[in-house]
Amino acid sequence: MNIALIAHDEKKQEMVRFSTAYKHVLQKHSIYATGTTGLLITEETNLPIHRFQSGPLGGDQQIGAMVANDEMDMVIFFRDPMTAQPHEPDITALMRLCDVYLIPLATNLAAGEILIRALERGDFQWREVVKQNKKDKEMNI
Ligand code: PGA
Repeated sequence: MNIALIAHDEKKQEMVRFSTAYKHVLQKHSIYATGTTGLLITEETNLPIHRFQSGPLGGDQQIGAMVANDEMDMVIFFRDPMTAQPHEPDITALMRLCDVYLIPLATNLAAGEILIRALERGDFQWREVVKQNKKDKEMNI
């Protein structure tokens, strides 16, 4: 499954610890991240990560594009609620698209833990079914 990891600056260390703790789960999936978040996670965990632009330079929008194409299965986004972000409109747009496409979205560590444990249990296998059905439809099977 395709999983996006994003963390605002004040939450980056939390994301690195989270990725380290759940490396055994994350390594079974394809991981995408905004630029700096992805770099820090790779340095610490050695997980292969597809890195997009940094968030303020369009990384959230690139992840949003995957959501809009129904290619992203989960977004774990540790937001900093105490600091104004220059790319707030992009962040809002990404969260909105998750709601549009019913993509599981965690915006803090507590929710992230729930999602990752559910992922480990296989609770999101329905995403594979949805994607396969869509492919079948496209191929008129
Ligand atoms: P970054 O982007 O991982 O490149 O810092 C995340 C953000 O701040 O939105």
